[in-house]
Amino acid sequence: MAAESLREFCLAANAHRRAQHLERRLVAYARQGVRLQGEAGPLLSFAGNDYLGLAQDARVIQAAQTACTVYGTGAGASRLVDGNHPLYAPLEAALAAAKHCEAACVFGSGYLANIGIIPALVGRGDLVLADRLAHACLLDGARLSGAALKRFAHNDVGQLAALLQTQRAHYGHVLILVDHVYSMDGDLAPLAAISALAQAHDAWLLADDAHGLGVVTPDPAANVDLWMGTLSKSLGSYGGYVAASRPVIDHLVNTARSLIFTTGLPPASLAAAQTALEIAQAEPWRGARAVAHAQQVAAALPPRYAPEGVPASAILPVVIGDAAEALSVSAALRQHGMLAPAIRPPTVPPSTARLRLSFSALHDEREIDRLIDRLRSCLQSS
Ligand SMILES: *Cc1c(COP(=O)(O)O)cnc(C)c1O
Repeated sequence: MAAESLREFCLAANAHRRAQHLERRLVAYARQGVRLQGEAGPLLSFAGNDYLGLAQDARVIQAAQTACTVYGTGAGASRLVDGNHPLYAPLEAALAAAKHCEAACVFGSGYLANIGIIPALVGRGDLVLADRLAHACLLDGARLSGAALKRFAHNDVGQLAALLQTQRAHYGHVLILVDHVYSMDGDLAPLAAISALAQAHDAWLLADDAHGLGVVTPDPAANVDLWMGTLSKSLGSYGGYVAASRPVIDHLVNTARSLIFTTGLPPASLAAAQTALEIAQAEPWRGARAVAHAQQVAAALPPRYAPEGVPASAILPVVIGDAAEALSVSAALRQHGMLAPAIRPPTVPPSTARLRLSFSALHDEREIDRLIDRLRSCLQSS
């Protein structure tokens, strides 16, 4: 029976993962800002991406509630049919202005944006050059495009230059893919140097700003052709976007399959994102406070774990090395009521298992002090 073989295939795959301690499962958390109610009790989260603390801001909730009451829960169709709600245009104008671009287009999510944008711009005979640590959905977009894909070492401008020198002439279009803020390391791409290289070799540059919007101001010397990002992290809503010149956006609206063949966003998500973006711009202390927390914790780490340089984002990796050790430090913190997930290979390179700490404007001084205190004792005894 076909159904029986499907069940057995999955049972065997699950058992294999379990034997290697790689099985993951979904755990329920009810979120109140950075305070979580987990299955085993309350936890203070250093794991979320609500950097500005807007996902439960009363003004954002009000905007979503009003949109829901007035317009209902769903878009009802794809954007190119009749699902293009009037709330899209002001949000796209605000996103374009925030990224200093002519135009912007909102997608169903950041993931959908990347798997739509990249195949709409490059294909067979073209080349994608991606940073080794670029986000998975950039790579998925590159693979879907059918373009040749080459990776360069993380933030290695010299290696990117060498690749452009030796490879550029063999391909039609070349697209460079980087994160503005790297999600597992919290460091920034050297965007000014990379964009200068892109211009010199007639390559296009796409920067993924999922962890930067409202938190990290891009280098003004950077000339980025395509900014993309998400409405689901610092803006506390749901959805993705790309900002670029007007002709690029017009082309994407006509060709990005993940925009064309999917339903528009619920009006409440659009209204929430619009209000959150306005607050993020009017209250820049929010992003600054999240980054300051990362800097304060970094400065208090035992020297062995201190990052190189001062953190520039709200993400702080504490690189422990050994995966089992990272897990045990994470478990010890959990005993103290703190959620600091251990990130292990293959998500990060071999021997660089780590805690990935992320900070929010909502963490208060006492909570940061408590984290520093517990982190020090757990790292010492690991
Ligand atoms: C989260 C994330 C995305 C995907 O955004 P979603 O809106 O959650 O789909 C894309 N790129 C990076 C770097 C991310 O961290």
